[in-house]
Amino acid sequence: MRALEGLSEPHMIMRKTLAQAYDMSAFKCAADGLLVSDGVQLLFHALAAGIVKSKSGNIDAVLLETKSGRVAVRGRTFIDCSGDADLAHWAGVPTEKGDESGHMLYPTLMFRVGEVDAERAGEAWKTIPKLMDEVEASGEFTFPRRGAIVRPMKRAYEWRVNVTQLKKADGSATDGTDARSLSEGEIEGRRQIVDYIRFLREKVPGFEKAYALDIAPQLGIRETRRLVGEYMLTAEDVLQCVDFDDSIGVNGWPLEKHVAGDVQWMWPPIPDCRGYNQLPYRMLLPRRSSANGVENLLVAGRCASMTHDGQSAARVTGACFVMGQAAGTAAALALQTGSSLYDLNSRHLQDRLLQQGAFLGGE
Ligand SMILES: Cc1cc2nc3c(=O)[nH]c(=O)nc-3n(C[C@H](O)[C@H](O)[C@H](O)COP(=O)(O)OP(=O)(O)OC[C@H]3O[C@@H](n4cnc5c(N)ncnc54)[C@H](O)[C@@H]3O)c2cc1C
Repeated sequence: MRALEGLSEPHMIMRKTLAQAYDMSAFKCAADGLLVSDGVQLLFHALAAGIVKSKSGNIDAVLLETKSGRVAVRGRTFIDCSGDADLAHWAGVPTEKGDESGHMLYPTLMFRVGEVDAERAGEAWKTIPKLMDEVEASGEFTFPRRGAIVRPMKRAYEWRVNVTQLKKADGSATDGTDARSLSEGEIEGRRQIVDYIRFLREKVPGFEKAYALDIAPQLGIRETRRLVGEYMLTAEDVLQCVDFDDSIGVNGWPLEKHVAGDVQWMWPPIPDCRGYNQLPYRMLLPRRSSANGVENLLVAGRCASMTHDGQSAARVTGACFVMGQAAGTAAALALQTGSSLYDLNSRHLQDRLLQQGAFLGGE
């Protein structure tokens, strides 16, 4: 991404941690190059729609609806990175959805605006929340939530906007596992975007000519089904920066809860602590005792095994990279050594990850 001039300089978040923004097109090109050069066979334009199980209870094949028709892809090990634990759900592996009342984090449709006058906009990300409060108090605008994140991209005439919040008629979060709810959410998201751009143009210096440069091709879903695994990462694990013997890497993000109309943050006590927790291999493994005989599945990313609050932290990109890399490495190691995913020697997995340059959070 750096070679493609797609990486911004890191920026400070709430005086606690650094984040690094990137350009989506550079990411797509860099990801294609990385995977193709490693011999990965990619299949786009394919939606997984079901599975076939073998007599032992394991997953034998994933059924895909593709542009060239319906196909079955057989495998010895499967990794569910659907974000929604689709494979786990179809395989009868237990999952959870939402908090104790079933409430999930709210989704957001992201967009970017172009033709911002960078000089006049200055550090508008600091003043926009107050401006929003003022125009809402005067009755000129209503916004779906507080806690707007409006930041410049590498080329400062483009800004990204994280401000929409999508809900169903009953006020609960749009459901990313329901096609109808997703469709309604997407339409509502675009309506909110049109309204927000009107606010930017009328009220924020430097944004007078701003327009929707692009709108994300899919709703940004924060939470749907989460795996019930051998270990569930909790809020306390994040806030207390805990270690695990079977660490596969770290999460450096706090609890970020998108609740009705707002965003709530909870941080570990930085700077009195190191500010990150380890992630255990066990959070990728379905709980064996209730997995209905499924022994060849790993679940990585935002649908891995975490409580509702733990997921509000480790659902973000950095932790998802960690889990995806570890799941792929574990699957390969298990196949090479003839071990089951459950009996895999976690030291061997850690050695492999260290050889690949992973940071496991140790000394
Ligand atoms: C609005 C928003 C803003 C965010 N901002 C940040 C941020 O600034 N920094 C940060 O680090 N994180 C951020 N996050 C969090 C982060 O982007 C996600 O949590 C992370 O991308 C989750 O990764 P994932 O791979 O687990 O799931 P996803 O990114 O959801 O990927 C799942 C993929 O699987 C595909 N898929 C799903 N089901 C099927 C199926 N049945 N068949 C075929 N394909 C399927 C989907 O199309 C998708 O491509 C944000 C999230 C949202 C929603």
